[in-house]
Amino acid sequence: VTDPAHPAALDVAPFVRAWTRAVNGTCHVPMTRAEKSEFLRGLAERLAVALVAEPFDATAGYWVATDLVAADFDAPEALGRTIAVVNDRFLTDLGLAETDPHRSGQPNLRARLTDLVQAFATGFARARHDRTFDAQEEIRVAALTARFAAERELRASEARFRYAATHDALTQLPNRALFTQRLDELVAGPPPGARFGVCFIGLDGFQAVKNSLGPYVGDNVLTVVAERLRGFAAESGHLVARLGGDEFAVLVAETTCLDDAVKVADRVAALLDEPIRRGGLELPISARVGVVEQPATGTDTVDVLRAADMTLHWVKADGKARWMVFDPERNAREVARYRLSAAMPTALNRGEFTLAYQPLVNLGDGTLAGLEALARWRHPDHGLLGPEEFVGLAEDTGLIVPLGISLLEEACRQAAGWLAAPNSAPQPLPAAHPPYVSVNLAVRQLRNPGLVGEVAAVLDRTGLVPHRLQLEITESAVIDPATDGDPVSTLQALADLGIRIAIDDFGTGYSNLGYLPTLPIHGIKLARYFLAGTRGRAVAEPTADAFLANLVSLGHTLGLTVTAEGVETATHARRLRAAGCDVGQGWYFGRPELADRIANRVSGPWT
Ligand code: C2E
Ligand code: CA
Ligand code: CA
Repeated sequence: VTDPAHPAALDVAPFVRAWTRAVNGTCHVPMTRAEKSEFLRGLAERLAVALVAEPFDATAGYWVATDLVAADFDAPEALGRTIAVVNDRFLTDLGLAETDPHRSGQPNLRARLTDLVQAFATGFARARHDRTFDAQEEIRVAALTARFAAERELRASEARFRYAATHDALTQLPNRALFTQRLDELVAGPPPGARFGVCFIGLDGFQAVKNSLGPYVGDNVLTVVAERLRGFAAESGHLVARLGGDEFAVLVAETTCLDDAVKVADRVAALLDEPIRRGGLELPISARVGVVEQPATGTDTVDVLRAADMTLHWVKADGKARWMVFDPERNAREVARYRLSAAMPTALNRGEFTLAYQPLVNLGDGTLAGLEALARWRHPDHGLLGPEEFVGLAEDTGLIVPLGISLLEEACRQAAGWLAAPNSAPQPLPAAHPPYVSVNLAVRQLRNPGLVGEVAAVLDRTGLVPHRLQLEITESAVIDPATDGDPVSTLQALADLGIRIAIDDFGTGYSNLGYLPTLPIHGIKLARYFLAGTRGRAVAEPTADAFLANLVSLGHTLGLTVTAEGVETATHARRLRAAGCDVGQGWYFGRPELADRIANRVSGPWT
């Protein structure tokens, strides 16, 4: 080969060394230096061939650049340095610098190289652009795929979540939320005349089983119950839900009358009466059902649920009935009681509670022995309320403890003032001794460990001498085994303070007389019915009188003062005197009166 411009004669090695040096390190290319060098040699040869080829075609530069970029030499530095090294060295290194551009018949290699470089630059830019475009496209597709996957996952988890939010985890029955939602739908815009029913189901004996055999058995029972109810739901088409704990519910859509709902209650109770057996035991579990059935129009979900819940409470408390139907009147009474009970703490703070006093008269000489303090509530809306209407509620809520102490303090303060009060009675017949005040003490108060200290403090503050205070307690307060604490030693401590203790309504509680001699008491108050005969059928008066006399002598044997309640007539008073009774209390001697009316009469005659 003699033509120096013939491709076969060209040695690209020096240029390739320079090129490799120039671009090395400009880009991250996954090749060794030797591999790079080998790769660039291929490209350099293609450039060399293109440079001298006839006819000349600059597009080779374009494709060389394309391949360069494809091999990851795609950084702008790689382009810049390649152009520099090609311009500076290509012709020299290949031994072509000496060609004379002006000699005719010889190609102008410098001009050709310029064109090649231009094409190279264009190719490089184009390839880079395509690359990034491809990369972006790839990213876009990947992002889209990821989003679809995420959305699919989200939909699946939403469904799972919805299921979990509307179903009970243990039994897989619909839960309270779903039940309420269905009920909402049912009462929102029902067709005219539509009625529906709700049955609340509670398991009798469940707590006992759970407590004695453990929560695992408890869960087991619930699962069995749920299974039976699920079967019922499938056969009847009614919605059955677990509301929580051992409470389930059936929504009876489209009833025609109460009977449709009652039938469901009956069926459910029968289903759950089937014995549940476990490990050779037959678990004593049965169902109680509260039934509500009513028109769908003009009703409110919350009211329906409350009514059903209330009815279930009633059945459970009843103990015998398997199902019960909601009774709006009973509900109204209970709501009123609830309102009253909720208003009590405020009423206590506002000083709405006060006392009426009823005389306790010595039957022998008609003088005043004492006065019983009886609670009253000056209710802003309902007027003066008697204790039957609120003392029980106060015992239930525990308010009786502060209320009782507050009333005790009022009674002691007023009693301490009686002696100082002017006597306006026309013909005074003074009490043989200063009258005592007799205050009722609730069971709950006797259980309060702070009682003795509080009573002592009240006496201290009011200045009443202890023997002018009598506390009345019921038999059950002392001997009821359910009463915790030690009521007898509490009584002893009170007696040790010098306070009188009387058993109230004697004979209405336990007829166990054995405990009587052991108690630190001063008196008994015979319940009203001993005068009337017995509580039920009337008893011949001679029998009643003999019985009375024996009761009185029983009290006297133990050294107790005997007081009779319910003395309504002169005959009553005469019979009591004949029986040897010490003190009488009743309308015959005087009705309970508020403090301002009683104060003037305290040292007057009571016959
Ligand atoms: P109790 O201790 O047996 O009080 C006697 C009740 O019989 C009083 O009713 C009194 O008004 C009524 N009564 C009096 N004389 C006659 C009569 O001749 N005939 C008839 N039929 N009834 C008569 P009240 O004031 O309604 O008190 C009812 C019950 O409330 C009391 O029965 C007592 O157990 C309880 N109670 C009253 N005040 C208090 C109190 O401050 N604390 C506590 N814990 N209970 C109280
Ligand atoms: Ca009493
Ligand atoms: Ca009584």
